[in-house]
Amino acid sequence: MAVTTVEQVVVGFGALGLDARLVEALKALGYEEPTPIQREAIPPLLEGRDLIGQAATGTGKTAAFALPMLQRVAEQGEERQGPSLLVLVPTRELAMQVAEAMHRYGRSLGTSVLPVYGGQAYGPQLRRLERGVDVVVATPGRALDHIRRGSLRLESIAAVVLDEADEMLDMGFAEDIEAILSETPDTRQTLLFSATLPPRIAAIARRHLTDPTKIKIGGERLPAGSAPRVRQTAYIVPRAHKLAALGRVLDIEAPGSAIVFCRRRTEVDELAETLSGRGYGAEALHGGMTQEQRSRVMKRFRAGGVDLLIATDVAARGLDIEHLSHVFNYDVPCEPESYVHRIGRVGRAGREGVAITLAEPREHRQLLAIERATRQKIEISRLPTIADLRARKLEITRAAIREAILAGDLDHFRVVVESLSDEFDVMQVALAAVKLAHRADGPDDTEPEEIPEVAPRGERERESERPPRGGRPARAYQDDDGPPRRRPKGGPRGGMTRLFINAGREAGVRPQDLVGAITGEAGIAGQDVGAIEIADRFSLVDVTDEVANDVIHAMRSAKLKGRKIKVRREGER
Ligand code: AMP
Repeated sequence: MAVTTVEQVVVGFGALGLDARLVEALKALGYEEPTPIQREAIPPLLEGRDLIGQAATGTGKTAAFALPMLQRVAEQGEERQGPSLLVLVPTRELAMQVAEAMHRYGRSLGTSVLPVYGGQAYGPQLRRLERGVDVVVATPGRALDHIRRGSLRLESIAAVVLDEADEMLDMGFAEDIEAILSETPDTRQTLLFSATLPPRIAAIARRHLTDPTKIKIGGERLPAGSAPRVRQTAYIVPRAHKLAALGRVLDIEAPGSAIVFCRRRTEVDELAETLSGRGYGAEALHGGMTQEQRSRVMKRFRAGGVDLLIATDVAARGLDIEHLSHVFNYDVPCEPESYVHRIGRVGRAGREGVAITLAEPREHRQLLAIERATRQKIEISRLPTIADLRARKLEITRAAIREAILAGDLDHFRVVVESLSDEFDVMQVALAAVKLAHRADGPDDTEPEEIPEVAPRGERERESERPPRGGRPARAYQDDDGPPRRRPKGGPRGGMTRLFINAGREAGVRPQDLVGAITGEAGIAGQDVGAIEIADRFSLVDVTDEVANDVIHAMRSAKLKGRKIKVRREGER
């Protein structure tokens, strides 16, 4: 296993020339190593060079400019009257996000940061500007208002960052940007970041930047075939709802064994704790743990005592793990290579696997860069709905109760049912018992959180309108006409195909093993799997008609609980 010590992490950022206080701040935030754009941009920026960075959100570009520029602001000390650094961004959300990141990084240097954007009252902004700040992160329109009122003075500006320049131009801020730049000293350092570099951006760069360092991230194509054959899906989720979204996807996919990748250690710890609290068998793995701690976690994971490994890229590097059905990217990886690395863990030895990425709306460009680099498609799907989730949970409860009935040994509960049946109908008694079993069985019995549907920004908008593959949620059978039968009466529901699998209870097969194996091997969505029956020697699983052939084909070479299995349509030989 690759070992990364805390010291190596510190050296990673420290070697770029960053102040020890900033390096400490990054360690506390859980960053393990610089991203490519940080590695390339930080040294020339610390030297005072101008820079053009072609990079999308999700590459770590904010820290790439924020860290060196905060350091330069701090080095200039108290001499300046007014802000030293102006960061222009296209939207209010980005102004808040960038200001918050700069505040977190710069706290250790005592740097003050103020976001300034339209739609907010002038009063508080004026008071803060009056008191004095080191860094202003502003949308161009509001910045210009303050400049015209005299409340934002730019004589002391030592550096300007134009962040997401292409979006600022698309939003019609070209003239405002020109006007703002003309108010700043010619001696300033100028940085321009943009996901694309159309001629209009190149013209701005020619006019306002001097001999800039040029950095391009994510443009290169990886060698053909370097990305494995894996079903790749992304869900676009607002940042605030990512945890709920992950929980929902985990419940629907029911992975047998999976890795969830995060960017930061702190995120790994939080996620492992939250998911464990919700009943998942989750453990953390990151570079801040000792070698022994990591070995212990890996041993448990390999032995099947842990279902979900929550890991940073650094900690999971070099790990060889068999039989993973799913890889989840809690964030979009900062470069296509790390994406390929991550998803390669489920594409082993000709097996198909599932890679699921949660992307924030702004990160869609990074997804496109990954698609271009790998020449593979990442399908953007709608998150499973609360109804999908409820249906799946009911199905798991139904399958568990059925198992209990078939296992027998229920006689000592008879007294409970009999005494209650004097007072209530047996159906009512059964319903109440199911309710209790359902609550106890689910990984989480809280009301699922509403997650607003959002479209990815720009190009992917149309694609996000598509319903998920199969277009149909997983369903539970509703046997509402009598006591449970050994098998559901009649065939599967319309649009579903029932498959026979020659392994069942005696082989230790559980419902989650079947869902995990089918989605993992066939590369289909959890929503495409419906009702499940497990008998002693075989299992029956309903899948949507559209994917039935894929499942039969993929499962031919698959193993379930270590055994080779046979899968066919029920009734066929
Ligand atoms: P950005 O591309 O600037 O929008 O950054 C995307 C996300 O990556 C932010 O949530 C950062 O906190 C995170 N991030 C930036 N640099 C690193 C790093 N070196 N290690 C881990 N996470 C990072």
